[in-house]
Amino acid sequence: MILTDTHTHIYSEAFEEDQKEMMTRAIAAGVKRFFVPAIDSTYTHAMYAIEKEYPEEVFLMMGLHPTHVKENYEEELAHVEEELAKRMQKESDKKFFAVGEIGMDLYWDKTFIEEQKIAFRKQIQLAKQYKLPIVIHCREAFDEVFEVLELEKGEELFGIFHCFTGTLEQAQKAISYGMKLGIGGVVTFKNGKIDKFLDQIDIKHIVLETDAPYLSPTPYRGKRNESAYLINVLEKMVDIYGKSEAELAEITTQNSKEVFGI
Ligand SMILES: [Zn+2]
Repeated sequence: MILTDTHTHIYSEAFEEDQKEMMTRAIAAGVKRFFVPAIDSTYTHAMYAIEKEYPEEVFLMMGLHPTHVKENYEEELAHVEEELAKRMQKESDKKFFAVGEIGMDLYWDKTFIEEQKIAFRKQIQLAKQYKLPIVIHCREAFDEVFEVLELEKGEELFGIFHCFTGTLEQAQKAISYGMKLGIGGVVTFKNGKIDKFLDQIDIKHIVLETDAPYLSPTPYRGKRNESAYLINVLEKMVDIYGKSEAELAEITTQNSKEVFGI
């Protein structure tokens, strides 16, 4: 069985003590592909380091996370642009596989709402330039995210709506913009809500993720998350879709290949 964690921050300081053991546990659990979203320039070095350790398993994204859009966001965007330009040239043997994670987050702070919008749109345009998918982070900002997607919709717009937590209608809307839904720990929560309607969404639109070290699935809720716990998300998906673990692993891995091109 090959599972794909389409969203995991394996370079996080949360794994400082046991990164190697964490990766070994995940691989032993069947998680063989790790798609790794960026946050801001302070993490770029750590991302390259873990990619070097696991060149067959780790696939990096580049982008500026919406909660890290601050006064210096233009400098941060320039970093994103530079790193993309370096790696997306033909001669480079290392690539990025998405622009992410990008989007809007109005849960923590609304101070930079306009800058968040500008950064989101600018990074969508970068993704289009390099024919890459986008990976969207959206928290308490569905209207604002859809507003930007509406402006940028079209053939070249595609990607993943990461950690999807909306309604059925919002799920359908996200799919209409070329997005797959990233399903993680929230699906296992008693009050997570998405488990109630997910069976109405064709499995071809679904990819799996942990968002480690955040959002641990039941029974680890509230503790540090790690990619090995993708198994707990998979188990819940068996209940929802009535397919076997092996089938779901294969379908969702195939879906991830469709998005990331690898
Ligand atoms: Zn994330």
